[in-house]
Amino acid sequence: MNFETTKKELSAKIGESKVIWKEDGKMDEATFDSFGLDRTKTYKPEYKILVFPETTEDVAAIIEYANFNKIPVVPSGGRTGYAGGAVAKNSEIVISLNKMNKVIEADPFLGSITVQAGMVTKNLHKEAEERGFYYPVDFAATGSSHIGGNIATNAGGVRVVRYGLVRDWVLGLTVVTGKGEILRFNGEILKNNTGYDLKHLFIGSEGTLGIITECTLKLTASPKDIRVILVAVPDFKSILEIFKKTHESPLPLLAFEFFTEFCLEKVKEHLGVPSPFSSPSPYYVLMEYEVSGENDEEKLFSILETITNEEYITDGSIAQNSRQNETFWKYREGISESLSLHNTVHKNDISLPLRNMEAFIQEMESLLNGKYPGFQIALFGHVGDGNLHLNILMPEGMDKETFFIKCKSVDPDMFELIQKYHGSISAEHGIGLLKKDFLGFSRSQSEIDSMKAIKAIFDPNGILNPGKLF
Ligand SMILES: Cc1cc2nc3c(=O)[nH]c(=O)nc-3n(C[C@H](O)[C@H](O)[C@H](O)COP(=O)(O)OP(=O)(O)OC[C@H]3O[C@@H](n4cnc5c(N)ncnc54)[C@H](O)[C@@H]3O)c2cc1C
Repeated sequence: MNFETTKKELSAKIGESKVIWKEDGKMDEATFDSFGLDRTKTYKPEYKILVFPETTEDVAAIIEYANFNKIPVVPSGGRTGYAGGAVAKNSEIVISLNKMNKVIEADPFLGSITVQAGMVTKNLHKEAEERGFYYPVDFAATGSSHIGGNIATNAGGVRVVRYGLVRDWVLGLTVVTGKGEILRFNGEILKNNTGYDLKHLFIGSEGTLGIITECTLKLTASPKDIRVILVAVPDFKSILEIFKKTHESPLPLLAFEFFTEFCLEKVKEHLGVPSPFSSPSPYYVLMEYEVSGENDEEKLFSILETITNEEYITDGSIAQNSRQNETFWKYREGISESLSLHNTVHKNDISLPLRNMEAFIQEMESLLNGKYPGFQIALFGHVGDGNLHLNILMPEGMDKETFFIKCKSVDPDMFELIQKYHGSISAEHGIGLLKKDFLGFSRSQSEIDSMKAIKAIFDPNGILNPGKLF
């Protein structure tokens, strides 16, 4: 491929200012490279053309050109992904949605908003709030991730127990397929029983079926008042028992997260925050409830009383104000950064039926301890959703290559264990490049063949994010 020609031809279609060729010196190399890389540290970006479309029509023109010339493309959102989905390492054209960040319209009656897909998720939260509504999908990366990237990965986050996944909030999508066609699915209506709901195919498709350019999201009312509770828990079984108790309470649970003492130590080191309790504990659970009025405060105390009397917790504290809410959340949301900034980490993001979780953790720990006694494990996650983030840390003195080879060799054993306990090898991060060799542990061959057949309809020349997912 002659990149200079590609740059000229694409510039003629969408405007020179929207096309960057690595060699033309318009952008420094590190910034340019960063558009072809996500949060995985395993891959090196290798590409030369970066485009910044501003409209759906721009995206369609880019894809038409790429499809005609059979040049692969990589959609690039906020690049906070953990699966290598936004990595460009084979001279693809990288399509950054950064400049597609505007509100298109809003419906104050239903409570919905239509935005371009490159809007940063936190800005979407603000736009919803300014209109008196609430967009509930939230997690530690929403200050950088795009709503388009969230839809492409069907992101979850910390409030799935109450509000579900991104999929549950998407009313309509505009996408550009691999043929350069613009498809508009469902618009902004709630009810539409007119055959297959094709938007769902694009939600979680990791940029392999189409580029999401616009989306309409349903909004809801903000939780009235929030109470954040942090408790110290002596064993994993008690975490599940506490979760069971939350179902018996009429108080709406917003989040149910857990982490280990090891994770807490890492956050304390990284953020310089004090221990929440006087003595360490094997596990901690962070619960968030919606409350409205004194009656609810009593219900909250009653939950705490029950789990204390049943000895499911050894200590606990209710945050007294919004600053303390933030501090408690820091213990949980600071974990990913605390680990990845100071260590080399092999990440696994898995889900399991809750009833199998304890047995799985026991077997998984003995598998890892048996095979790699020096490896430290950081275990945390959205336990209320059955979602564990299982991070293996590189031991001191080991080189990266050896570490990742060892991790990759233990992965199949772990995935077999996940299969045995009826779980999934990727709960919310997706498959991307990182997990594609293992997709068969969670999907049957006939499911994978069906996915490939669907891809062939929307992307017959296979130019959209090739090599990702399968
Ligand atoms: C600290 C931290 C915490 C996190 N916590 C969570 C969590 O709790 N829950 C969770 O689900 N995830 C979490 N993640 C992972 C990540 O933030 C999500 O997967 C997020 O949805 C990715 O969005 P993005 O815009 O950064 O996408 P990117 O990383 O840019 O891309 C992700 C995938 O989507 C594709 N893509 C991007 N934009 C588009 C588009 N417009 N059209 C089509 N395809 C597109 C890319 O090609 C790629 O395959 C976390 C990440 C970090 C760093």
